[in-house]
Amino acid sequence: MSQVYNFSAGPAMLPAQVTKLMQQELLEYGNAKASVMEISHRGADFMAMAQKSEQDLRDLMNIPDNYKVLFLQGGASAQFSMVPINLLRGKTKANYAHTGHWSKKAIAEGQRYCDVNICTDSSGNKYTNIDDFSNWNIDADGAYLHYTPNETIAGLEFDYVPEVDMPLVADMSSTILSREIDVSKYGVIYAGAQKNISISGLTIVIVRDDLIGDVVANQPILFDYATQANNDSMYNTPATYPWYVAGRVFEWLKEQGGLSAMAKINETKAKTLYAAIDGSDFYSNPVAEKYRSWMNVPFLLANEDLNGLFLEKAAERDLITLKGHRSVGGMRASIYNAMPQEGIDSLVGFMKDFEKENA
Ligand SMILES: *Cc1c(COP(=O)(O)O)cnc(C)c1O
Repeated sequence: MSQVYNFSAGPAMLPAQVTKLMQQELLEYGNAKASVMEISHRGADFMAMAQKSEQDLRDLMNIPDNYKVLFLQGGASAQFSMVPINLLRGKTKANYAHTGHWSKKAIAEGQRYCDVNICTDSSGNKYTNIDDFSNWNIDADGAYLHYTPNETIAGLEFDYVPEVDMPLVADMSSTILSREIDVSKYGVIYAGAQKNISISGLTIVIVRDDLIGDVVANQPILFDYATQANNDSMYNTPATYPWYVAGRVFEWLKEQGGLSAMAKINETKAKTLYAAIDGSDFYSNPVAEKYRSWMNVPFLLANEDLNGLFLEKAAERDLITLKGHRSVGGMRASIYNAMPQEGIDSLVGFMKDFEKENA
């Protein structure tokens, strides 16, 4: 296969080194005499893998000891329910920041469990900007504040962490591991794996100890963080293959120099692409400059009639999955950790050529 750069928003590109390793290990995992998909999650081989992957993630993100790391199923969407179930703790209200498509989904699910106070709302500016934190209307009686640090569809990313006197909950599905963060500022961090961690089927949840063990009554036992934490995420059979892939990605990230090194690479990638967009009247990105995402870069062509041709010609140059989300239109380049600078350079080169031929 030629060198293809895949800009899919998720499931997304994996590091080439990891997919090669997956291929090598497909038929036999270590000395297990079977593939990692065919062995017991309670056997020595899988348990060793599970422990190492958790330790590697703890090292990468510098996760304090008073946080549990859970390897769950159900996607980020299951956390839209698990967060209120576990964090309301007798309260009847919670604060949610509405900054995009995924916040909106989290809010809709939150409303099934409690009175949701929408403390800021970017829907009026079509998710291209975030109101100053000083203007947010936070209800002090809320059990927690939920926000989405990176909105995957509009490409809107916070450049700060909200400071509140209640547990802060972050849906980091499309930004986790892209840069260093201070985990101690959060009550819960969760992320579906298929963007920046692994393949689909796995959700990572990082939860502070004191938020575990007091759940809304009569909810599914699997949705209780305590069930998962007390059983090392193996109350029932976990998603073994995505977990293994995550472990290989964590090893790869450590080899790259960890998250400080990834942050530098990601920042340069994003800057290269935004510079190409801003440097031309042919392309545009509507997001307020300081809230532009490092991971998801939507852009529009001045002439929308050229969208189809752009995608076709890009694919001929092995630049695939650039079609924007239907709610935004145009293009979207998702440039997670696995996308190398060369992929960005190739895209920018193509964009310049396409402009010359079609402007
Ligand atoms: C993709 C995505 C989701 C949905 O994830 P699932 O794993 O499909 O449930 C939720 N939040 C954000 C920010 C996302 O990017």
